Amino acid sequence: TDARSVNFGAGPSALPDSVLQEACKGLLNFKGTGIGVAEISHRSKEFTSLVAELENNIRTQLDVPPTHKIIFTQGGGTGQFSAVVLNMLARHRLLHPDLSDEQRVMDYVITGSWSKKALEEAKRLGGASVHVAVDAREYSKDSRSFDGIPAHEHFDFSADPALIYYCENETVDGVQFSNDGQSPASFPFHLLPPGSSGLWPLVADYSSSFMSRKIPRLADHAVIYAGAQKNIGPAGLTILIVRQDCIVDVDAAAKLGAVPVPITLSYKAIADASSLYNTPSTLPMYIASLVLERSRNLGGTEYFESLNRKKAQKVYSMLKEGEAKGVYRPKVREGSGSWMNVVFDVLGDNAEAKFLAGAEAKGMTALKGHRSVGGIRISLYNAITEEQTDKLVAYMKEFISQNA
Ligand code: PMP
Repeated sequence: TDARSVNFGAGPSALPDSVLQEACKGLLNFKGTGIGVAEISHRSKEFTSLVAELENNIRTQLDVPPTHKIIFTQGGGTGQFSAVVLNMLARHRLLHPDLSDEQRVMDYVITGSWSKKALEEAKRLGGASVHVAVDAREYSKDSRSFDGIPAHEHFDFSADPALIYYCENETVDGVQFSNDGQSPASFPFHLLPPGSSGLWPLVADYSSSFMSRKIPRLADHAVIYAGAQKNIGPAGLTILIVRQDCIVDVDAAAKLGAVPVPITLSYKAIADASSLYNTPSTLPMYIASLVLERSRNLGGTEYFESLNRKKAQKVYSMLKEGEAKGVYRPKVREGSGSWMNVVFDVLGDNAEAKFLAGAEAKGMTALKGHRSVGGIRISLYNAITEEQTDKLVAYMKEFISQNA
């Protein structure tokens, strides 16, 4: 492991060394079965007990109430852009069979590239009209960038939508809702309409912040989902927390005119089969189970919340120092900055390339921002330690002194 760089990549991203070492053993001989985890039947008792452990580790560490099921699937966050629409439209169809597609509405909160992508998929699928509850670009400094969470007065929700969609952490743009319930950048739960079922159809993409801290108002969500490849494990596993009233008979809804749902996207098909309707992503699930076992031993989401807060504070305060000296320019307004993905520009000719090369020379890698926005992106997922963060912050400071 000496030759390993510190990986600040946005996903797939760093995994703890201890987990990778343990996973090597499981690849050869899983739980003493004499065969590796990538070779064993997903229906073996050893593997089904792993699924139960994985679920239990999520349920206990996030305090998921019995009203919600935890299900495992594939297809990534992008698969869920489609699945949430199809399942929530089926639910709404069963509640309101007589509405036309125009009368049926889906609300989208747009705070960055990923919620925008989800919106595009909702429009593609049809079956309802789409209402943008807010588009953060309209309230940004330059009127076209995603640079923060808009003020609550700008949110406008429909009365009884089939779903209300938001992305909790925008991985590309570095914008995240606050988790303290007080700050202006918190999600405006108090503005949500009660809706006809009395339960909010609230859907949240937690792909890049899942298990990094507690989820505010988790029990009030219809669906929370996350691809595993940031905080939890390798790509190929998608984790869902779904309130039971959103696990509906999609075939009954289709008979009433709803869009038919491919079986691998049906929450009911997956949930009824305890996430083993078809072959799941066994190897990613194994590694995720090791990651979450380690998290539990360290103190769960409380531990990571305090660690991640500290890491983010250190980076943002150095960023501020660099801003004051004219070396760095944050891309996100104060108060909306993500704990997981810190994005900024390095000012000056060729300065960004110099910053990246200097970091590489010190064994710190994958700091280049997403191609759509450029600049630097520092991803501080759970596997990044405080010492690794300190090393980066020291480098940011050195870079300021050499370039101010
Ligand atoms: N949502 C968010 C917030 C993401 O960061 C990503 C991937 N980086 C996605 C959705 C898409 O996920 P996937 O690549 O697993 O389809």
